[in-house]
Amino acid sequence: MLTLEDARAAILQRIVPATVAETVPLAQARGRYAAAEIRARVDNPAFDNSAMDGYAVRTADLLAADFRMPLAGESSAGSIPGTLGAGVCMRIFTGAPIPAGADAVVIQEDVKRDGNTIVFPRTVQPGANIRRRGEDFKSTELLFAPGRRLGAVKLALLATAGVAEVPVFARARVLVVATGDELVAPGQPLAPGQIYESNRLATLAQLADFGVEAIDGGTVKDDPAALRTLLTRSTDYDFIITSGGASVGEHDLVKQVFAEIGEIEFWKVRIKPGKPLAFGRVGARTHFFALPGNPVSSLVTYKLFVEPALAVWHHAEPHEWKLPATATNGFRRHPGRTEFLRARLYTEHGKLLAEVLKGQGSHMLGPVREANAFIRVEADSDGFAAGDAVTVIPWLP
Ligand code: AMP
Ligand code: MG
Repeated sequence: MLTLEDARAAILQRIVPATVAETVPLAQARGRYAAAEIRARVDNPAFDNSAMDGYAVRTADLLAADFRMPLAGESSAGSIPGTLGAGVCMRIFTGAPIPAGADAVVIQEDVKRDGNTIVFPRTVQPGANIRRRGEDFKSTELLFAPGRRLGAVKLALLATAGVAEVPVFARARVLVVATGDELVAPGQPLAPGQIYESNRLATLAQLADFGVEAIDGGTVKDDPAALRTLLTRSTDYDFIITSGGASVGEHDLVKQVFAEIGEIEFWKVRIKPGKPLAFGRVGARTHFFALPGNPVSSLVTYKLFVEPALAVWHHAEPHEWKLPATATNGFRRHPGRTEFLRARLYTEHGKLLAEVLKGQGSHMLGPVREANAFIRVEADSDGFAAGDAVTVIPWLP
């Protein structure tokens, strides 16, 4: 059985990244991945401008004027102020161009007004309160390399830089299917032995958050013929993600049909929850994840394996935040598998604390009411005591 790291490495090595790119307007670029270098088209700031409301001066003239200067003209945002005359000052507002010749802005709170004369403090420094052209970034400067994800805030940078449209990789098309004779859609009455289906919905929603094109493939019965039809018809998707039927029972047919129709790269990983995970390929290019059916196993394996795979498919570096925290309660177990405990991460007196939530069964979704992290227990560990240092992975389910 593969370790978590070996399984992850095997997946990332097998992913064939996107080859198709397109150019989209900024308003449609949120969550997409840059397909080429994106460079600034203008300097930012585009011109020297005032950081504050106040008065623009030539500092060299202040001493000779005994720090009293007549007011001559005004520069407001969007205006063209021209040149500041010798021995005078100019009213100026935040974001307004600095008039030629001025080398400082004195904020209005620091001056006194005496009719048309402004009285300045004796401490004005050259350069004060001026935002310099290009001090943030310069025209042609690299903003994003290929593979960078253009999240909501990145779009603000692109707009500021005068970029109107961006080259991005195609979004992965991902088919999501639940399997199981017992599964019923919420809203239907439950017959004896049936349960409500939840994995498909959660996977579709997480994929939508990630920014790929998630396609609902519905629920398929534990019937080899139906599974065979599904898999053979789905080889034009970039990914297929199923849940359930990946263990060893006679009714766990996903893995059997997967082996028959596709190529299984590996099956089973030394993790808890989520051991019966199969990964491989069907057809020439469709990556296939058979996730375990238990709801928590499906969530954990999605986070640990599917998300990094999707990142790599879009030419991005997968990354995982690992934070050091202090356990507020203990957890004991037999070593063997890398384990992920649903936990609540919070701060108290500036310290990051992690509480192991009650209900760690892989069928127990109740704890997601409070969970916002996993505590990662290493394979060779027998657990930890309250007060011990633990490694935490943020998770916002
Ligand atoms: P399986 O991997 O098919 O043996 O399923 C393991 C457990 O997860 C069983 O208790 C199933 O009823 C349950 N399960 C499987 N698929 C789903 C699903 N889509 N939603 C909720 N529970 C599921
Ligand atoms: Mg099943």
